[in-house]
Amino acid sequence: MISTGIQTAAYLLASILFILSLGGLSSQQSAKRGVIYGIVGMAIAILSTLLGKEVEGHIYIIVALAVASVIGITVARKVEMTSMPQLVAILHSFVGLAAVLVGFGSYLDPQTHELMGSERNIHLVEVYIGVFIGAVTFTGSIIAWGKLEGKIMSKALIYKGRHAVNILIMLVTIVLGVRFGMADGTNGLIDLSIMTVLAAFLGVMLVMAIGGADMPVVVSMLNSYSGWAAAAAGFMLSNDLLIVTGALVGSSGAILSIIMCEAMNRSFFSVIFGGFGNTSSSSSAKIEGEVTSISHLEMAELIQESQSVVIVPGYGMAVAKAQYPINELVEYLKGKGKTVHFGIHPVAGRLPGHMNVLLAEANVPYDIVLEMDEINPDLPETDVVMVIGANDIVNPAAIEDTGSPIYGMPVIEVWKAKKVIVMKRSMAAGYAGIENPLFYKDNADMLYGDAKESVVSILHHLNNK
Ligand code: NDP
Repeated sequence: MISTGIQTAAYLLASILFILSLGGLSSQQSAKRGVIYGIVGMAIAILSTLLGKEVEGHIYIIVALAVASVIGITVARKVEMTSMPQLVAILHSFVGLAAVLVGFGSYLDPQTHELMGSERNIHLVEVYIGVFIGAVTFTGSIIAWGKLEGKIMSKALIYKGRHAVNILIMLVTIVLGVRFGMADGTNGLIDLSIMTVLAAFLGVMLVMAIGGADMPVVVSMLNSYSGWAAAAAGFMLSNDLLIVTGALVGSSGAILSIIMCEAMNRSFFSVIFGGFGNTSSSSSAKIEGEVTSISHLEMAELIQESQSVVIVPGYGMAVAKAQYPINELVEYLKGKGKTVHFGIHPVAGRLPGHMNVLLAEANVPYDIVLEMDEINPDLPETDVVMVIGANDIVNPAAIEDTGSPIYGMPVIEVWKAKKVIVMKRSMAAGYAGIENPLFYKDNADMLYGDAKESVVSILHHLNNK
């Protein structure tokens, strides 16, 4: 057992490590250090909580920790990078469920009903809000998992009057909350239970109404909700560290959601209230031009003649695991004295930072990996852009077609380069399900095939020249 003073000091240390961890994760160079800070902080947090005076039944906790660790390690080892968003979504659902269980446990705890006056009222408010946020997070995250995993249609489910239904649920929740606060003893259990069911339904409805290219924002928004659910659980348990950690996760998730909304030129509220992602090629403009394609040999000749090359990777690079041969290609081109850069869109792939992680894994040097805003001004001077497995993030409709569902979303303006080669398997649409006029531009050619096989084939031709 440790004293309260030592526990408080340990909590403070863990909080500092969590803040340093978030700071570290903000750049590729320091990300590994950030993860280590996070692991050490969490180990200190768990140990100092376990050794605290108020904790009983250590044996159950240790068994639960052991079982959960085995499951966690197994899942983390198996998960593909392309399935990471689904894993993150399902983990958020656990935080939501934990907040609901802590809320019910805390309400049924006899000590709660020994509290008097304002202390009791404050505690009941904590329980009610904590259970509400937890239930919304729990079901919302399961729906997000289903959509990302392809188990539920990814389109937004929109029905007339849904805002009215959501507002009605909120009003009933408030009425139930007042009754819950006024009930004696545990008599508010029925109101709490009805509110939990309503909040769970609200979570389903909120996320069902969001779809298509707004899904990344949903994942980071649920990340934020799960943080607030954890903070609420911290209030219920009077655990300062859980409050601090929950607030850190809640606010960083909210900031990330806003940054992503800006990257997609979407208002945060229009994302939260849904409705996007229903349209498949609903663009008002008719696409003009003809689709032309080139062979791997022609592609090899083209980049050999070019002085500056920009590579724009997307989700298809992750699917094909093309990052390793791409790094070989970069080494080859740099060896020939050519300028090579990567252009990374903030929502390329299926999770924030997806492309950066894959390129770092293949040892691509950080200094040639540029953000969208850094690469766009260079594109008119670029000889050739290789779009590898990307689609929505290079769609000119976002700029040129006011009727497009992605109109206004900033994109990498690859068509401004002298030549663009789009490397993908077919003419199929990307995640947002909309057609891409880039493929029809005069200076664009398609290079059909799996991204990895294509890059390997180009390298083969280059090495045999
Ligand atoms: P897209 O989903 O728009 O396009 C990917 C393209 O890759 C497809 O059109 C597909 O075409 C091609 N592809 C798939 N497999 C392969 C393969 N083996 N080899 C070559 N090509 C392949 O991806 P982008 O990265 O351009 O855009 C990301 C989209 O995902 C955006 O709409 C974004 O909003 C959304 N999103 C982003 C998240 C994030 O946080 N980054 C999370 C969730 C969604 P084909 O089948 O013809 O090969």
